[in-house]
Amino acid sequence: FDLRNEDLKDLHELGQGNGGSVKKVEHVPTGTIMAKKIVLIDAKPSVRKQILRELQIMHDCSSNYIISFYGAFISDPNICICMEFMDKGSLDGIYKKIGPIDIDVVGKVALAVLEGLTYLYDVHRIIHRDIKPSNILCNSQGQIKICDFGVSGELINSIADTFVGTSTYMSPERIQGAQYTVKSDVWSLGISLIELALGRFPFADDSSDDSDLSEFEGTLSPSRPAPLPKKTKEQKEQEKKKKRRKSKGVSLQGGGMTMSILELLQHIVNEPAPRLTPEGRFPHEAEDFIDSCLLKDPDQRKTPKDLLKYPWIDHARSSTIDLEAWASTF
Ligand code: ADP
Ligand code: MG
Repeated sequence: FDLRNEDLKDLHELGQGNGGSVKKVEHVPTGTIMAKKIVLIDAKPSVRKQILRELQIMHDCSSNYIISFYGAFISDPNICICMEFMDKGSLDGIYKKIGPIDIDVVGKVALAVLEGLTYLYDVHRIIHRDIKPSNILCNSQGQIKICDFGVSGELINSIADTFVGTSTYMSPERIQGAQYTVKSDVWSLGISLIELALGRFPFADDSSDDSDLSEFEGTLSPSRPAPLPKKTKEQKEQEKKKKRRKSKGVSLQGGGMTMSILELLQHIVNEPAPRLTPEGRFPHEAEDFIDSCLLKDPDQRKTPKDLLKYPWIDHARSSTIDLEAWASTF
């Protein structure tokens, strides 16, 4: 593909993240459907060109567990990255739609992510750096693939300059400033798997009220019109109480998190790691695997390659569960 922005027809938006937005587009000359990621980068032209050069490594990445890359180009002031479109979207969207994901499917997800991470590291010496449910995608053939890995050091720098990032999947050692290693990705995988199996972000403390963020936006923007119906006194009182609880800090998106970012980071560093609970609800091998992903000391934590040998992963590999049939249910 020789990609040019003029040849891409926007179909609709797929989602927005920290660094920009993703659109479903058609490459008109070939009729190929793609996902186009638009990243706003505040950097000099020379840096942009460097980023573009670094992204070309993605042309060499070829694995069933990694999103294919069609190409990238600069469209001032953005960098556009065109990749394989996954028609069932990301796993965060899927569990928010269908609820907690069956543990056997979660096992297949673990297997796919470990295969993807092992491929990236063994073949290209790439560390993913951003494993989370929204970067694990699924299609109607039942394939599971990872996207948005850190191929370009310059891109990572440019985005890090602009955004603090949702560091909620960050390992304790990363929060404390240690070097990124493949084991940091393993921590993020552990957190993500619990989230999928429980249907909520594991650090959330109580309710699973999803309206946190919008509520907060409401209180922050006075310019927003208020066409809401009149509320009863009791409703208002309840909401005040709720807000008081929340005003400790910015509510985090996802599963009713009500800790502030700082509280969450402190929690990850100081408290025992989350587990797949309640005990006995999930297969022992799944609990065991996730405990190994979430060892707080990175020296004790296994690498993706080691984890591929775990009993739960063996089990997932030989499992005959039909992911294509599963994907056809939503
Ligand atoms: P984030 O990963 O933080 O959610 P992104 O900007 O990377 O933010 O992606 C926004 C959303 O776009 C994702 O949550 C995902 O649902 C969707 N998306 C990203 N890449 C693809 C793709 N290749 N195919 C289909 N949907 C995608
Ligand atoms: Mg993403």
